[in-house]
Amino acid sequence: MPLYEYISECPDDPDASCRVCVKGFELRRPVERPPLKVCPLCRNVVKKVISQVNTPKVTKPFSLVDAKKAGFTVLEKRDEGVFEKQ
Ligand SMILES: [Zn+2]
Repeated sequence: MPLYEYISECPDDPDASCRVCVKGFELRRPVERPPLKVCPLCRNVVKKVISQVNTPKVTKPFSLVDAKKAGFTVLEKRDEGVFEKQ
C-alpha cells in the first residue's frame, strides 16, 4: 500500500485546520481508492504532497514514443495543401 503525504490547503490559517493537517500527515491508502480530499479529523481541505525525495529521477528525455504510450495523441505536421479540395 503506497504511503501518501497530505497537508492542509491553508496551513497559515490555524482556524481552518487542525494540528495534524497543518503540519502535514502521512496516510497509507490502497491504490484503487480515490485521493484524499479532506482531513479525516477536521474535514479541512487537504492536498497531496508531492515528495521530492521519493521521486525517481527521470534522466532520459521525454520522447515521442513515451508520449504515445502515455496516451497523448501525437500530431505530425503534413505538407501544406494536403487538405485542399481537389
Ligand atoms: Zn485537520
